[in-house]
Amino acid sequence: MSECFRFRCIDDSCGQEFSIRKKLYQCPGCRDLLDIVYDFSRTDVDSLKESFSRRRLSNRPLDVSGVWRYRELLPFEAGDLDRVVTMGEGNNPILDAPRCAEYVGLDRLRVKNLGWNPSGSFKDYGMTVAVSQAIRLGAQVVACASTGNTSASMAAYCARAGLRSVVFLPEGQIAFGKLAQALDYGALTLQIQGSFDVAMKLVQELAAETDLYLMNSINPFRLEGQKTVILELLDQLGWQCPDRIVVPGGNLGNSSSYGKVLMELKELGMIDRIPRITIIQAEGADPLYRTLVTSSQELVPVNDAWTLASAIKIGQPISWKKAVRALQFSDGWCDEVTEQEIADAKAILGRDGIGCEPASATTVAGLKRLLDASGEERPEVTIDPGENVVAILTGHQLKDPDYTVNYHLDSLYEHAAYKNRIVDKHGKIRSTYANAPVQVPPDKEQIVRLLGI
Ligand SMILES: *Cc1c(COP(=O)(O)O)cnc(C)c1O
Ligand SMILES: [Zn+2]
Repeated sequence: MSECFRFRCIDDSCGQEFSIRKKLYQCPGCRDLLDIVYDFSRTDVDSLKESFSRRRLSNRPLDVSGVWRYRELLPFEAGDLDRVVTMGEGNNPILDAPRCAEYVGLDRLRVKNLGWNPSGSFKDYGMTVAVSQAIRLGAQVVACASTGNTSASMAAYCARAGLRSVVFLPEGQIAFGKLAQALDYGALTLQIQGSFDVAMKLVQELAAETDLYLMNSINPFRLEGQKTVILELLDQLGWQCPDRIVVPGGNLGNSSSYGKVLMELKELGMIDRIPRITIIQAEGADPLYRTLVTSSQELVPVNDAWTLASAIKIGQPISWKKAVRALQFSDGWCDEVTEQEIADAKAILGRDGIGCEPASATTVAGLKRLLDASGEERPEVTIDPGENVVAILTGHQLKDPDYTVNYHLDSLYEHAAYKNRIVDKHGKIRSTYANAPVQVPPDKEQIVRLLGI
């Protein structure tokens, strides 16, 4: 049995360790979350960066993968690697977004679009690792609750692996593209009458009571895979840390994993400074923001979480403690943005030729809000326009084309219920940057006149 990697309870006063060969999601002692901890004493740090770059020249599937290329920081030993399920995930470029930079008020802004993954979201970084662990454990059936992308990713990797998968979806609340994926990849798709938080609780209880292996980000293997987003990003930047990394916050697995890997890289001496992690939530689904502004020691949940950015419509994020740890370690912050701000930011990203789903656009919206208010109004988050910032875009534009088309047709509505939590009416989102289609008869003269050429 391998002892190079262990589960460890994140509560320092408990700190119990367990074998990773056990199906655990929470500390059996105190119910707190688990980390996977490493014994890096045998890791040859000096040669790591060089082997990472050398693997880019290789055609071996494990080297081609933007996750497994960084396998020294993953909880798998050489002997376990031949059963890994990979689809060449990762390898997403970092792009300049000059129109977004101007829009938010930065000299320069770069984005890393994780929507360009096999199943169209960053979830693939974690899923390749979690499905590989399911196989190592000999799991028969795996399951997750999902706002859509976790299920799409899980279903795809399970189809590759020939593993049965069950997805629990909040009925009528996920983007169509994501539902289509789960169906096509052959997952048993259960539509639960309730919110994501209800579906999450249900599947967690079932995983505790039955043999179902849980694939949500409470499963530490998911977060281990998602760490490689940062490894790949730093590799692409020649291991020069940006000043700030901005990421949307839903269940808070992604931001948590970024914090964890930065701690590990610091410990290994592979980086000498820490980029500040800035998490952005939607105003109607902002439990972490509420927790921070009230300096609460416990999560302040949002009972009727609501946003059109369905990927982050989560009121009780599982990984909130790890996210708080990530913010503390990196001197970061969590903020919130309105539906209007998200919609406009997404349109500006589009103008840079970069598509994403609404949840991803919170990053650009959040930067704009923070830069607009920098200084006196918001001393806790002063962003200098000269900062070196990378925004993480999490999901593909075509996951939710309804949203985009409705924005450009000026028919995007926000659900006002979440604002006063009583009145169920709709408010209109202004289509500030609309690019509506133009109807013309099949007439060349008219078209030439329209084009002004
Ligand atoms: C899952 C998801 C998020 C939220 O990530 P968390 O790790 O749950 O905070 C954001 N955007 C997209 C597109 C997602 O699929
Ligand atoms: Zn514990």
